[in-house]
Amino acid sequence: MPALVCTAKTCIYNKNELCSKGDIKVEGNTARTKDETCCSSFQERAGESMSNSCADGSGCTNISVSCSACECKYNEEMQCHAGSIDISGSKACCCEDTCCSTFSCH
Ligand code: SF4
Repeated sequence: MPALVCTAKTCIYNKNELCSKGDIKVEGNTARTKDETCCSSFQERAGESMSNSCADGSGCTNISVSCSACECKYNEEMQCHAGSIDISGSKACCCEDTCCSTFSCH
């Protein structure tokens, strides 16, 4: 499971730039650049509602990442095997505003 840092602070799962969802899905089955990927688990925060899957109520450092960006060198059988990844999206309003900055084409 990669260590994950995420700048999409507008996501309901974001806790101090860590993800509290427990697992995420990255999309980009035809992606050849990082901008063609996105975190499909992003959900825009509405009001103060929070969702949290981590037992201690905080963000997780390492999380399971399934990923359809099969051109990425870290992708093995639709799972991310990078040691750490960065999801970007500091002003994201929807999934398409996010991307995996760690994407690296074969
Ligand atoms: S580093 Fe590659 S395999 Fe891992 S989530 Fe990002 S695009 Fe997918």
